Amino acid sequence: MDCLFCKIVNGTIPANIVKKNELFTAFNDITPQAPTHILIIPNKHFTNMAEVANSDPALAGEIFRAAGEIASENGLESYRMNVNTGAAAGQSVFHAHLHLLAGRSFAWPPG
Ligand code: AMP
Ligand code: ZN
Repeated sequence: MDCLFCKIVNGTIPANIVKKNELFTAFNDITPQAPTHILIIPNKHFTNMAEVANSDPALAGEIFRAAGEIASENGLESYRMNVNTGAAAGQSVFHAHLHLLAGRSFAWPPG
């Protein structure tokens, strides 16, 4: 399958890897929207996070667990976790991912 994030998981395309285990890979976003902008993705291909949660709830939990762990390891007290699902919501890569953003203030409601 021709998927950018699958290629990052298997090392075909380089990324700045923050943390990785047998279930997830976390790496810096190439176009950071905040001083810290990390993507946490399942190593297995799913189109979006809803699909992950539906097929493998424990794996969805692991993605959120990993995000919290990375935030804690980086001393982040305030951060935003964001999951864009569908093009109209801003999803541009159709391999499930969770954005972990921190290091600046965030507006609410989001744009
Ligand atoms: P989304 O718009 O929610 O689908 O998020 C996709 C994210 O992937 C965007 O924030 C992009 O900046 C990021 N991105 C795209 N290509 C790469 C890449 N090669 N390495 C790291 N991040 C990427
Ligand atoms: Zn993929």
